[in-house]
Amino acid sequence: MQLSYLVITLRNKEIMTQQVALVTGASSGIGKAAAELLARNDYYVFAMARRIDRLEQMRSDNIEPVHLDVIDAEAVKTAINHVMATKGRIDVLVNNAGYGQLGAIECVSMEAAHQQFEVNVYGYARFMQAVLPHMRAQKSGCIINIASILGKITLPGFGWYAASKHAVEALSETLRGEVMEFGINVVVIAPGLIHTEFAAKEFELLKTVTHPSAYQKLLAALPRLLEDESKAPGPEIIAEAVLKLPQLHFHPCDTRFQPTPKQP
Ligand code: NDP
Repeated sequence: MQLSYLVITLRNKEIMTQQVALVTGASSGIGKAAAELLARNDYYVFAMARRIDRLEQMRSDNIEPVHLDVIDAEAVKTAINHVMATKGRIDVLVNNAGYGQLGAIECVSMEAAHQQFEVNVYGYARFMQAVLPHMRAQKSGCIINIASILGKITLPGFGWYAASKHAVEALSETLRGEVMEFGINVVVIAPGLIHTEFAAKEFELLKTVTHPSAYQKLLAALPRLLEDESKAPGPEIIAEAVLKLPQLHFHPCDTRFQPTPKQP
């Protein structure tokens, strides 16, 4: 009787103290590096993506794979319910799942444009809406939205992707002001070029867009913009930032995110 009481107490203590992180797009690139680094630093990580075989290779004591498409609203709700039922808290959300729809604005179909926003914008929003009630209840939490340098500027051929990342910036900045009084931080990481599977997928998608010959100059220029991709830093550099951010205190109105150490 006493022993079982001790086990229950220890289990409750573990549930109460181990930090819990959710990482979307964890099957490759930035999400994979972030999930693995968080797990190595004692977070319990729910690693989410569609390629479950990739996630299963990452499974460990601190990494639990969750098969999920971020456009599936029911799957997102089910995943959050599972996290709360098993771990009872959500400390960090890393919204990262995304891709780049290359192509001239005139030529990318409206279906493809919608899909870009479904994943890169509404996918993030679904997760933010799903975790916020729990973060408000626990009066703490950190939402890290992976945007892009193309959420601040834009380039010909990157219009729909840049629009989606500008939307992530706007939503993040708005949300930061709305939830700061609940003890929740909302932070954007805006990477430049990072060596992952991202660029190769962009060029695969570009092949699905039909451009009239008037756009040949643009089509010839696009590969040159990304020709240094293989020399770009690896995703670990972004994972390091993800690991540090929940420990820092940001002034909610500071869009440049000058970090100051948390007050003891
Ligand atoms: P990768 O292509 O390596 O990884 C993208 C991840 O997103 C994969 O795990 C993929 O998993 C997941 N994903 C894509 N669509 C969905 C979906 N519908 N549902 C669930 N998961 C999905 O690229 P990166 O790691 O480079 O990209 C990560 C983030 O970083 C993106 O938001 C990207 O915009 C951003 N970024 C990347 C830069 C770069 O140069 N690499 C620069 C700036 C920003 P799966 O296919 O298994 O579902």
